[in-house]
Amino acid sequence: MKIAIHCAWCGKEILKYPSQIKKKNFCCRACQAAFSRKDVNPTGYAYRDFSKNSERFSEMNRERNPDKMTPEMRSKIRDARLKSSTSTGYTKLYGRHLHRVVAELMLGRPLNQGEVVHHIDGNRRNNDPTNLMVFPSQVEHARWHALHDAKGGDSE
Ligand SMILES: [Zn+2]
Ligand SMILES: [Zn+2]
Repeated sequence: MKIAIHCAWCGKEILKYPSQIKKKNFCCRACQAAFSRKDVNPTGYAYRDFSKNSERFSEMNRERNPDKMTPEMRSKIRDARLKSSTSTGYTKLYGRHLHRVVAELMLGRPLNQGEVVHHIDGNRRNNDPTNLMVFPSQVEHARWHALHDAKGGDSE
């Protein structure tokens, strides 16, 4: 399910999947270009979108090391990272948990510190808006689990 956000330059409403949301989002390349120009946007222009770079690098990598960076290898690396003790298993966006960012977009306001975002299907990586529920506190969240958890659930 896509959610409505606003172009960082013209303010037009755009629809994006949670996985496509970046720190700054634009409706079109022209808006992104205008935003990045010092003369038209002297206060905000320093932002650059490097997301295309990673695409280009993985393309290059695929050509040069066809056996090294296969999708299987990529998922092995990701699993290894997820199992390391420093990772919670949640997808992050610029240092914030993506499910919290998506929940804020759904609510149209920042989350309070005590508010808990719960994954309905128990999958921490499924940040589709239809899979998220916001509880006012950990107590309410725990109550939900107490009622629904006969078959096991997630931690957040
Ligand atoms: Zn725009
Ligand atoms: Zn939960």
